[in-house]
Amino acid sequence: MTIPSEGRTSPGRASGRAGFAPAQTSTAAAGLAQAGAVPAGAAGTRDDRALIAGLSIAQKVALLTGADSWRIPGCPAIGLRPIVTSDGPAGVRGLTKDERKPSSSLPCPSALGATWDRDLVYELAAALGREARSKSVDVLLAPTINLMRTPLGGRGFECFAEDPVLTSVLAVAYVRGVQDAGVAATPKHFVGNDSETRRWIYDARIPEHVLRELYLVPFEACVRDGGALLVMAAYNSVNGASMTENVPLLRDLLKGEWGFDGVVTSDWHAARSTLATALATLDLSMPGPDGPWGDLLAAAVQDALISEELLDDKVLRLLRLARLVGALESPATDHASTDHASTDHGSTGDGSADYGRAKDGRAKDAGPAASDSPGTVEASLLRRAAAATFVLLRNEHGALPIDPAATGSVTVVGPNAFWPTIQGGGSAGVVPASMSTPATAIQAALAGQTEVRAVVGCHTWESVPLPPHGALRDPVSDAPGVRLEFHGADGAVLVTEHRASSSLTWWDSVPPEIGWGKSGRIVLLASFRAAQSGPHLMGASGIGDLTLSLDDEILVRETTSVPDDPVEAMTRPGEARAQVWLDAGVRVRLRLELSPAADGAGPLGIRLGIVPAANPEALLAEASAAAAGSDAAIVIVGSAELTESEGFDRATLALPGLQDELVRQVAAVNPRTIVVVNSGMPVLMPWADDVRAIVYAWLPGQAMGEALADVLLGVAEPGGRLPVTLPVAEADCPVLEAFPDDDGALLYSEGLLIGYRGYDASGTDPRYPFGHGLGYTTWEYESLEGGGELAAGNDLELTVTVRNTGARVGKEVVQAYVAGPPGEPGRPVRALAAFGSAIAEPGGAAEVRLRVPARAFARWDEQAGGWIWPEGRFEVNVGRSARDLRLTTEVNSG
Ligand code: BGC
Repeated sequence: MTIPSEGRTSPGRASGRAGFAPAQTSTAAAGLAQAGAVPAGAAGTRDDRALIAGLSIAQKVALLTGADSWRIPGCPAIGLRPIVTSDGPAGVRGLTKDERKPSSSLPCPSALGATWDRDLVYELAAALGREARSKSVDVLLAPTINLMRTPLGGRGFECFAEDPVLTSVLAVAYVRGVQDAGVAATPKHFVGNDSETRRWIYDARIPEHVLRELYLVPFEACVRDGGALLVMAAYNSVNGASMTENVPLLRDLLKGEWGFDGVVTSDWHAARSTLATALATLDLSMPGPDGPWGDLLAAAVQDALISEELLDDKVLRLLRLARLVGALESPATDHASTDHASTDHGSTGDGSADYGRAKDGRAKDAGPAASDSPGTVEASLLRRAAAATFVLLRNEHGALPIDPAATGSVTVVGPNAFWPTIQGGGSAGVVPASMSTPATAIQAALAGQTEVRAVVGCHTWESVPLPPHGALRDPVSDAPGVRLEFHGADGAVLVTEHRASSSLTWWDSVPPEIGWGKSGRIVLLASFRAAQSGPHLMGASGIGDLTLSLDDEILVRETTSVPDDPVEAMTRPGEARAQVWLDAGVRVRLRLELSPAADGAGPLGIRLGIVPAANPEALLAEASAAAAGSDAAIVIVGSAELTESEGFDRATLALPGLQDELVRQVAAVNPRTIVVVNSGMPVLMPWADDVRAIVYAWLPGQAMGEALADVLLGVAEPGGRLPVTLPVAEADCPVLEAFPDDDGALLYSEGLLIGYRGYDASGTDPRYPFGHGLGYTTWEYESLEGGGELAAGNDLELTVTVRNTGARVGKEVVQAYVAGPPGEPGRPVRALAAFGSAIAEPGGAAEVRLRVPARAFARWDEQAGGWIWPEGRFEVNVGRSARDLRLTTEVNSG
């Protein structure tokens, strides 16, 4: 039976289907011009139509390509100031990535997925929105709402979950939180960007019902329920058409069927054609000022290849956005003139230094940068939120929480105890406003009660780590940090400034002589005193010609190659290494020079790392010896800086380096071994049964250290539940690699069976199932009310009563899964349909009301082009995880 969309729950239109069969490509799309092709949704207000009536085609077109890397151009003629965009989702960077303007670093989205808590996600997103406002950012390029199709996905940490319902609920809360703070949200990447390998060119071949039932679900929710003001079109293609040229998905579905009245922006550099993108109803090509539109688009409108009505539709959508973020009301406010307007005195408009030669031609000392707001999200919120994301996977013999009174000594072991990975790599990265390491936070929390020793155990870094704060000194001022110089082609110093970090990135704010293919150079100068005598490894990174010298002697000179994906200019530029003996306390002078490659792309970056060379066996032996003598060992393992990042997928789910060996050796000598995993996505834990307790801590942002100490000592509850299945072995994963074939096709041949659905279908036991998480108390599921006859297209109301049977107050996440009539081929055994949480005192009961949406009982029928509700008997299973189901009710749909 097919139900039309007028039903109360508005599950979607049964007619007028978009039809996602192999679609119009660039050439085909050009033929659509005569169709008029103006999408439904944004007719524009009368005021805005009047406002643009006086603009020429060229003026309108100019609004549709970025002014620079991050700004959408303004138009003084209509009182429009530039609109500022900036990346999320786990922090807002602002226009520059600069240690002088740090940002609050929030738990990564997979961690937020682990909260299963829409209120907390809303609260964090609203705080992030306020921080964006304080940095004069109008548009946050977040949330990322692709699904964790494969656990190897490099950007999985940026996604909420492997399940579309959990993703949707949290994504809507995120969008509302950001937008309630007056900042526009941008759900991304629409759609099928579920892995990174060859993301620019792959063609995700996704059956229509799979798109409808999995990958489109969060986008539909963010548009229809969240009111998202922008959507970002992905790099990849879906079913034959690039997502920036995808007529069925952009024009017909997003704008037509869903009635999206906001702005569709390209992912950065994803617009690669003029006509096809414009006709598919892409509204904005980012970044700029170059791009495929500009004069070419103006000419296409003049030649009537694109109707002026379609051009106006794009402009009107932008103006609506501008009004909502306050960019159209007050062109000359302080806000606009300080941070947004470009001025004629050479400001870069981002509050950073004016990079030009002084009037007399001498080098300018840029001095301290104009201050931007540092992170504004309250430390207490970040700490509470991080603890709420931690998942207690295992806790034998009550190993946790640690009672300091009963624990004389603790050894903290592991690379991530010293170098925690608080965020993933790529555009989501920010300079954190503060950070304490787990080792220091645990030491501080146990001070005066328990003796704490911390040892590193092994190294996992791939790029030589940055030296500790204060080890490098500016040779001019002797302040901690480095001296940075930009040199012109003639070798003259154009700008010189002090920087506190030896890892620097730029988009726009460099002198005009510096950049890809230009002849200027970036020079970093520092003095360094080693803390211990011995061999030291130096790593110099950047794309182009690198020369690293020590006391005027060249240590290494190398030309690094241009990576395939421009984001790697920031995440993993080539590194030239040298090993050198240094004597403790003796000051040496370092000079790193970079001439950026001629054919590079993306941001510019330079980095200098220094670390004492270490002997792996000695580090392991030191860790075992320390752990053997203490009452408990806390081993903190996980991803290194480059393990999880935008731009590439992981090659393996194994922990990097010798970490598995480290855990094994420590567990062999200390029976009370507690492991903390600091990874944004699944890792293999071959030692899981040999340790007492495991806490999954994700990439939890700047509050990691304190939040971890809170959870380990029982000051806070480990509130998280898994948003992704953790496998025993790689071969168990329903989808492992996501490599497109030679033709670029990436087949989603598993259909609906990703994540726990795949494990259920194949009968494979995971290491820890989707939804799992223990907390510090125990629960009994007492009753489930609801069920019986359910008319097609109706929601189902359930009431679940749970009782806290443990000794302390706790939170329970109650999950409801719908199992369809058996025997439907290719369908999951059961799928998450609703969830809610309860908090109860010891012995106390709590009632959780759940609304299971009608869609949970529907299927997308490709023939009918609509949702159908099959008649038959469904089961609704309620419990603690996808594999710990406690109560069941039956539903007869018809
Ligand atoms: C990423 C986007 C990001 C954009 C701007 C792209 O490479 O895919 O998520 O918003 O860059 O940094």
